[in-house]
Amino acid sequence: MACTRNRAPRQSVRHFRACMGPALAAFLIACSEAPAPPPAVAGSAALEAHSAEFRRDIIEVVPGIHVAIGYALANVILIEGDDGVIIVDTTESLEAARTVKAEFDRITDKPVQAIIYTHNHTDHIFGAEAFAAGRDVPVYAHKTTWSHIERIMNVLRPVIETRSFHMFGNYLEAGGEAIINDGIGPALAHSTTGDGDIYGLLPPTHTVDERLEVTIAGRRLVLMHAPGETDDQLLVWLPDERVLLPGDNVYKAFPNLYTIRGTRYRDVMQWAHSVRLMRSLGAEHLIPSHTRPVSGAKAVDDILQVYGDAIQFVHDQTVRGINQGLDADTLARTVQLPAELAEHPWLQPFYGTVPWSVRAIYNGYLGWFEGNSSTLFPIASATRAQRLLALAGGADAVLAEAEAQLPADPQWAAELADLVRAASPDSVPVAAELKARALRMLAEVTPNPNARNWYLTDALELEQRITTGPSPISAERVAFAQGFPIAGVLRSMAVNLDPERSAGVNERVVLVFPDQGVQYAVHVRHQVAVIDALPSVPEDESVVVTVPATEWLALMTGQRGFPLALADGTVQVSGGMADTAKLLRFLALFRQE
Ligand SMILES: [Zn+2]
Repeated sequence: MACTRNRAPRQSVRHFRACMGPALAAFLIACSEAPAPPPAVAGSAALEAHSAEFRRDIIEVVPGIHVAIGYALANVILIEGDDGVIIVDTTESLEAARTVKAEFDRITDKPVQAIIYTHNHTDHIFGAEAFAAGRDVPVYAHKTTWSHIERIMNVLRPVIETRSFHMFGNYLEAGGEAIINDGIGPALAHSTTGDGDIYGLLPPTHTVDERLEVTIAGRRLVLMHAPGETDDQLLVWLPDERVLLPGDNVYKAFPNLYTIRGTRYRDVMQWAHSVRLMRSLGAEHLIPSHTRPVSGAKAVDDILQVYGDAIQFVHDQTVRGINQGLDADTLARTVQLPAELAEHPWLQPFYGTVPWSVRAIYNGYLGWFEGNSSTLFPIASATRAQRLLALAGGADAVLAEAEAQLPADPQWAAELADLVRAASPDSVPVAAELKARALRMLAEVTPNPNARNWYLTDALELEQRITTGPSPISAERVAFAQGFPIAGVLRSMAVNLDPERSAGVNERVVLVFPDQGVQYAVHVRHQVAVIDALPSVPEDESVVVTVPATEWLALMTGQRGFPLALADGTVQVSGGMADTAKLLRFLALFRQE
């Protein structure tokens, strides 16, 4: 069994050393002739050691500038000024933010004069209210931040939430497993049931385009657009103190150039440019929104240099391979960081990984089609699985082979179990149990918490110890979403249209929302719901519904019943009973069941 360099990613330098020593089963898995599992630097032991990064602490990096670490997935940064303080990032929940606020109150009782969101991700925005404490506090963010928040909240919430909970390990506890850490923080402080004091988001009041210089409480700040992990990322530069707050564009882990919870393509070269822009500032202190701060101009410069270079390396070598006609799978196996980058403590695969990044870059440039024409209109995956299973001697034979391969190659065992599960429903319990064992072995050897959490979540679900899926829509969540413009809620209606029920339907309803001063036509035709803002209420509409925007969401999510809302006048429908019946039939087109 050769431990060849191109079998495993070069991120795994320590892994090769391990391979040369006494046989360690976990490491040998990655050195076998079979395709390597995700990078196994030193398995979950390395991840355990990484937990030290998140021990709870409030660190004063320079006089008056503190960072709270380990209270939530993301850090909170406190900048104390003459007559007030500035808060940068607010954690993912009100509850966590309140704990941080209580700690900050022990440092100073000066009022919060501004909140800055470095970007739109949940773990930076949901705790804002805890810091504003009921006061009217200016909130700074990039000009596109709010539109990103709305898109996630309204259109993609069910899937992004479920996948985030897989990735951050939020389901594990219910199945009797524990998170080691989440790579960039201890854990995502959200419950899978939607309970808890979460929603303290405050909408931005001051937006930044490319650059904004502002003095708050006597502190000079430069907010600069630095697209990278997200398109709306802002960096915060304090030129007088030479302190750089890079948001999520830099943390002590290989950057998440692709996140497995699902994301639009992240323009990785923009990310590298933003890191180099930061480097050009000549910072003496780096306070990331995840992981611990770093002081010393040389240390900061070194981190920013290798970070930008690692991103560019992965980008350039992927594109080079693409131009040579190589497919994503081949590139994911062969693009490997140079040793000096692979060994760098800030580039370990504790969050992003090189192979995932390579696949995302491939997809970002070319999309899903890799040039093999037999993949243009492939046969159904279940049919393929059945035919392969027949060739391989049937489900029992394949499961026996999976069992035999399991100790040495759990990845292959999991893939064989998948084949059986896809082809043969009768074998599912045995295959599920076998796959769960394989996933647990993979979880043990990966240093990557996203992979580990997902493996274990899948294992628990295969063992029927947990179920995953979008959490129920609580009254608290509805109350939170009621603060958003109604347009976003209507967009979520469109992607919930049932194509079967709406077949042959050609109906239009006008919705008037007096509290937001807007009206929309929702026209269902050709099995799509076309939503148009109207300048005024048309005269000739057959069905006109007048309802407060704040009530509409409660009605659409079932928090409030239509009959009662109609009876008490919350919902008013033109044209009497006939139109009311028409409205209810119309709304049934969007029902989820
Ligand atoms: Zn974050």
